[in-house]
Amino acid sequence: MAEPGFCGHCGRGLDEVDHDVCRARLRLEPPRYCAQCRRRMVVQVIPRGWSATCVEHGTVSGG
Ligand SMILES: [Zn+2]
Ligand SMILES: [Zn+2]
Repeated sequence: MAEPGFCGHCGRGLDEVDHDVCRARLRLEPPRYCAQCRRRMVVQVIPRGWSATCVEHGTVSGG
């Protein structure tokens, strides 16, 4: 991986700890942390799923 990344669920570095459980959770619920900068994301539940916004990196959505 070219750039460092953070776990959207627990916010720790992707190579720091094992994130299998986090990945399973992220299939069901929105990320809490931006994968690029580790900021807390603003999560909104929308009719089709959810959106999570980082002030620096924009919005991701899913559900
Ligand atoms: Zn994690
Ligand atoms: Zn960010």
